[in-house]
Amino acid sequence: KEKVPSDIEIAKSQVPKPIDVLAAEIGIPAKDLELYGRNKAKVKLEVLDSLRHRKDGKYIVVAGITPTPLGEGKSTTTIGLAQALGAHLGKAAYACVRQPSQGPTFGIKGGAAGGGYSQVIPMDEFNLHLTGDIHATTAANNLLAAAISARYFHESTQSDKALFSRLCPPKKGVRSFSPVMIKRLEKLGIDKRNPDDLTEEERSAFVRLDIDPEKISWHRVLDTNDRYLRKVMTGLGPAEQGKTLETGFDIAVASECMAVLALATSLGDMRDRLGRMVVAESKSGVPITCDDIGATNSLAILMKDAIKPNIMQTLEGTPVFVHAGPFANIAHGNSSILADKIALKLAGIEEGEEEDKNGYVITEAGFGADIGMEKFVNIKCRASGLIPNAVVLVATIRALKMHGGGPEVTPGKPLPEVYLNEDLDILKAGCANLARHIENAKKVGVKVIVAVNRFTSDTPAEIKLVQEQALAAGADAAVPCNHWAEGGKGAIELGEAVIQACKEPNPFKFLYDVNLPIKDKIEIIAKEFYGAAAVEYSELAESQIKSFEETGYGKLPICMAKTHLSFSADPKLKGAPSGKSSRFFASCSSACSLRASRFTIPIREARLSAGSGFIYPLVGEMSTMPGLATRPCFFDHQLLDDGEIIGLS
Ligand code: ADP
Repeated sequence: KEKVPSDIEIAKSQVPKPIDVLAAEIGIPAKDLELYGRNKAKVKLEVLDSLRHRKDGKYIVVAGITPTPLGEGKSTTTIGLAQALGAHLGKAAYACVRQPSQGPTFGIKGGAAGGGYSQVIPMDEFNLHLTGDIHATTAANNLLAAAISARYFHESTQSDKALFSRLCPPKKGVRSFSPVMIKRLEKLGIDKRNPDDLTEEERSAFVRLDIDPEKISWHRVLDTNDRYLRKVMTGLGPAEQGKTLETGFDIAVASECMAVLALATSLGDMRDRLGRMVVAESKSGVPITCDDIGATNSLAILMKDAIKPNIMQTLEGTPVFVHAGPFANIAHGNSSILADKIALKLAGIEEGEEEDKNGYVITEAGFGADIGMEKFVNIKCRASGLIPNAVVLVATIRALKMHGGGPEVTPGKPLPEVYLNEDLDILKAGCANLARHIENAKKVGVKVIVAVNRFTSDTPAEIKLVQEQALAAGADAAVPCNHWAEGGKGAIELGEAVIQACKEPNPFKFLYDVNLPIKDKIEIIAKEFYGAAAVEYSELAESQIKSFEETGYGKLPICMAKTHLSFSADPKLKGAPSGKSSRFFASCSSACSLRASRFTIPIREARLSAGSGFIYPLVGEMSTMPGLATRPCFFDHQLLDDGEIIGLS
């Protein structure tokens, strides 16, 4: 077999076509394109108006089995499938992926442009600043953080009267309220619009948010893994008069602003969601929002260009939307609704055109399907109103073997034999993990196509076994694919299976009714999707859930912040640990050693993401600011004198 060159070597060997040429090919009018150099462009949201009359194309979500350090290749498969459909099967095909954070690019994982002959190019532009959306989101987040601290300081050091005259200074002798101030008056139930008419009591309520310094939940962010910023003390300078605030930094993609960017359906919707974000509590326990702070429109102004999806291309010249990149644990881990919507219109057909001409949008959901696909369905699709036709579930033989009891791997050490040689017993046991994800996808009524992402060490008997197990668990199709080594050509069979699956209607449904009590929704996810026996709540979580319901936030979907490394809350519990016996376990062989394990899901805390529009229960500890390991990727990066980059992956 010929050796496949490194990702960066392959990426650099292909000269991308000018992005305006690609945009013209796929029908984006030049007036709706904003070029960022030669290889990237933003697509204006106005394109949705010009394509309004079109039907949507077919909508496919790519998800994976429970991740292992051996990798599953979801991004690689998303791109490989788009290449197969777009460059080999004569279909309009769009990949929609997240913009990677600099955290993993310079940390451990590396970039996220796919791999082998299935990549987004140019890979360095994709993995680095792109068109600055993460920076814009960071700026918006940090403006709000600065505004909260400043407001706390000013309220702590000034009288009501002084605050009022500074908030509403007379201009040419007349005081007036700005639009965001009027929102605050509405919230307070004050129907006066002339500042001079307010009573002393009303003035006091208006100027004093009364921020509880212990209850400021809004963090600052930056797009770097910087462990020393997880907890910091601010306001130590003499000018702050001892009004210090303990706070912390998160990685930029963990900012709620990023989740809002991904879930917004229009510019106005983004602005309103930013305004609803809860940033702190008052001393009497009232949630304080970005609207109360008054910064909503400034945040939206900072993000007004970030909301436009970015277009790039695959190695085979097919279009890729790269837009937004929310964290997959405390947020929903999916790329933007607007990118999917634009791609679906571009892929769709005109009224009366033959169904056969329909195109495909392949969007990726982060982490395993228990998290990425669950949130795609219950959070993203609920917000967008879009309905997926099928899920492509990516699995590798190596990762399934780890789920079947294969040993842990140590970075830098050779892979244990079991991952390199045929072992049908361990593989069969590991298929329990795949089976659980298939059953879950069926519960939300989508077609399931299992993509066995081939590694050179896979044997024909192993591939056949995974296909059999997948079909037995209810998959509509299970096909091996070799797009990493061969590009789109290697995923033709997968493309054909997708086309076939999309021909039939599917009975899509949400996993839970959003109007149920919060605990009922959590339990449905834990029991139905994770296979847990029960859910346990800490006292803190109990009281937080009660308070969300009392303050009108009870009818939001749930965004579980759980480890991605297991169906359970314990990352070491591989396979398909179970609180009850599933259909698959009934037929599982004795090699399935995990069939008896039972688990509960412990909810440590519950938090509100009111702008994104979900509650996120914390299952165990969740880091929102990764640290750098002893040997991060940057040791392998080189910038040559001529500007060439080496070692980025
Ligand atoms: P995920 O999206 O699931 O995190 P990626 O698609 O980013 O995974 O792939 C992770 C890494 O694995 C990439 O470096 C990619 O080049 C490599 N990879 C993916 N598929 C294969 C394969 N079939 N053979 C060898 N390496 C692969």
